[in-house]
Order: sequence, then C-alpha cells, then structure tokens
Amino acid sequence: MNIGVIGTGYVGLVVGACFAESGNDVVCIDNNAAKIAKLQEGVIPIYEPGLPEIIERNVREERLTFSTDLEAAVKKSFIIFIAVGTPTSSSGAADLSAIRNVAAEIGRAMDRYKVIVTKSTVPVGTTEQIREIVKSQTKHPFDVVSNPEFLKQGAAVEDFMKPDRVVVGADQIHAGEILRDLYAPFVRTGRPVMMMDIRTAELLKYAANAFLAARISFMNEIANLCEHVGANIEMIRNGLATDERIGPAFLFAGIGFGGSCFPKDTLALIHTGREHKYPMKILEAVSDVNTNQAVRFIDKVRAHFGGKLSGKRIGIWGLAFKPRTNDMRDAPSVKVIESLLSDGATVAAYDPEAMEEAKRIFGSRIQLASNNYACLQDADALLLVTEWQTFRNPNFERMKSMMKQPVVFDGRNVYDPAQMRQLGFTYYGVGRV
Ligand code: NAD
Repeated sequence: MNIGVIGTGYVGLVVGACFAESGNDVVCIDNNAAKIAKLQEGVIPIYEPGLPEIIERNVREERLTFSTDLEAAVKKSFIIFIAVGTPTSSSGAADLSAIRNVAAEIGRAMDRYKVIVTKSTVPVGTTEQIREIVKSQTKHPFDVVSNPEFLKQGAAVEDFMKPDRVVVGADQIHAGEILRDLYAPFVRTGRPVMMMDIRTAELLKYAANAFLAARISFMNEIANLCEHVGANIEMIRNGLATDERIGPAFLFAGIGFGGSCFPKDTLALIHTGREHKYPMKILEAVSDVNTNQAVRFIDKVRAHFGGKLSGKRIGIWGLAFKPRTNDMRDAPSVKVIESLLSDGATVAAYDPEAMEEAKRIFGSRIQLASNNYACLQDADALLLVTEWQTFRNPNFERMKSMMKQPVVFDGRNVYDPAQMRQLGFTYYGVGRV
C-alpha cells in the first residue's frame, strides 16, 4: 500500500516508520525543510526508544522516504494520514490552521480516489470540515476517515505496534475496511479495530486523554489534602491501585501533568463544551488543579527559603515533560524554572535527553550541567521534576557533599522521606508529610 503521512513530528514519524515496518511504502512529509533534510541524512530529530532502528531499516530497504513535496506524496499515495499539530489557540480551542492548510493542499494535489485520514487529535466536526475543504479543491472522489492515535511518547513504537485497540471512525463502510486491512498486522493478538462514526471517534480521543488527566488531578487534589491532614498519598495510591475497579495506572501525585497532549486536549474539550453551551465542570477543575500544582510546588520552595530565592542556586533534575522523551512542550519544568528565574534564583539543570530543547528554550538564562551531579555544586536545593530512571537511586552522600544545603524538593515522590531524613536531607515530597 502507498501511504503518505503529512506532518513528521512525534506522531507522524512513528506512524510512518511503523507502517513501513509492516511492508507498506511510506513517504513522510513536513513543511519544516530543516527537519526533512536531517531525516534524509539519517538524523532522527526526536528521542523515542526503538525508533531509530526502525527508521534506519526501512530507509535502507527503500520503504520509507522523507520529503517536503506534499503534492507528489498525495499523487503517489492511496491513503493519506494528516498528522500535523493541533496546538492550543489563545481561546483554549485547538488551532486547526495547519489542518485546514493541509486539507486544501491535498485537495489541490488529488488526481484520483484517495482515503484521507485524520490522525491528529481534532475537535468533533473537524474531519467533516476537512471533507468540505478537500471537496472545494477537487473533482476527484475521496473518503475521509478519523483514526485518532493513542500512542504514548516514550513508548510510542511499542504502543503503535501493539495497540490496546485501533479506533476507526468512518461514514463509508468500504473506507473503514481499508483501514481495518491496513491495521491487520498490528492487531494479530486479537486486539480490536473498533469501527464507529467519525464524530464519536474524534470525541473518544479527547475523552481518553481527559479521563487520564482527571485521574492525575484527582490524585493531586487528594495529595494536597494529605498535606493538610497529615496523611500519606503513597499509601492511599497503593490502596486505590489494588482495587480492581480502579487499577494502578495514572495515580501518581506530583507536580502535575504536562506535555503536548493532556493540557491542550483538556482545554480543547472544555472549549467544545462551552461552544455547545455545556460547561465541562469536571474538566475545568482538572485543568485548574493541574495549573495550581506547579504553583504549590514552587510555593514550597519559596516558603523553605523564607520567601527569598534571590541569590539562591537551585539544581533541577529532569526537564522533559516525562521520562523517555526529549519533549518539553508544556513541561512542568518550564513553569518551575521560569518562576525560579523571576524570583532571582540561579538555575543549573540536567536531563538525559532534553538538553538541546532546554538550550533552545532558555538559551543562556540557565546553566546546563553535563550530568545530574554537576548541577548540585554549591546548590541550595535540588528540585526533582522528571522521574527519569537514572535519578531513582543516586549517590546521596555525593549529592550531600556537593550541595551547599542538603535540601530536596521531590516533585515526583521518587525518594523515601524517612530514608532521606536519615541521610541528613531536608526533604519535601507531594502529599507526604
Ligand atoms: P509535532 O509538532 O511533533 O508534529 C507536527 C508536525 O507537523 C511538525 O513537524 C510540523 O512541522 C508539521 N506541519 C505543520 N504544518 C504543516 C503543513 N502545513 N504541512 C506539512 N507539515 C506540517 O506534533 P505531534 O506531537 O506529532 O502531534 C501531532 C498530532 O497528533 C496532534 O494533533 C496531537 O494532539 C496528536 N497526538 C499526539 C500524541 C503525542 O504523544 N505527541 C499522541 C497522540 C496524538
């Protein structure tokens, strides 16, 4: 099958590489010429475990190519996936300008029947809008399908290769069946390809992200109450996780969720509710609790230093919005560092994969350390912001000997409070006194 993927980002690149891996001929398109040039030279612009090997193999075996030529890709492809970004606009709604531009370009390039698939996360009704835009540009027949993506950054290849389910929203049965065939190699273990109407598929993606975001904000709210009443969120988490009706996933209290999906998709769904005069009360609270969570964390730091961070030197462990990615979009680290800097603190930071991103975002406003210990030299405190595996079991004696004051603010509840205190640290977690 000839496949075109338009938008070669965290999703498009993984989707394109994985479809090539199952034997299809895939061309990945992006209007960022520098990104495409890098990919053509074999440089992978993102950190995603397992991805470089798949890209390398499929490029070598000539099933995967990269290009900026959307028109040629549309002409060559039978199925065209739209995987461009849908970031938050100033109103909180999803910004669909890239989607609309791409739809018009696809329409202009059409030369025969195609299946046009929305892979990006888009508000209800967008795939129908895409149909209208394409129709306005071509006389050739086509179908539109919604096929939202559920992969997680950090485990994207595995998630795509072995999905829990594949969601296909189609109004025309034959177009849906084309997608079912395409996904057959990925669901051989019996996972379902779930067929539904387009609007339901679009909303299902938002419901999934909003639900996971709600679990995190719920736990953060209980954790905050723990701090008031002297209870322990980790014990509560264990107690909840073992309840089969609740399950263990997405129950970690901490500094709040970030990344390019949960914050944006929660806001977009709130916006959809408002447009339909149906306020999404739970999601408004989910978003508010999350915004507050980073503020509470910074307030703990401020309180420890008597409200004066000016002149303090703070080490930060973890910059990516979560482990196993280099992505810093909407990362809690950015909020925390901006607050520290505006309070006059000096920041030295380390992340195993996000240092280039951090340099792009902060330039010389923060010091980028060569390893996690290096940012502790003469530090007044360490803030653990992203729970990378390599931060879980550090040499505490070494840390203490380097720091000016052995103070740790653990934004992910990675360390054991009793052990930290025994080691001589002043320790602050989330929801654990
Ligand atoms: P991204 O920003 O990493 O990638 C988007 C790419 O599209 C960029 O490389 C950009 O240059 C390109 N692009 C923008 N306009 C273009 C145009 N007119 N023509 C060609 N290329 C264009 O974004 P992402 O994280 O890959 O997300 C893409 C979509 O997938 C979003 O809607 C997102 O919500 C959704 N999604 C993301 C994830 C995730 O974990 N990142 C998971 C599931 C769904």
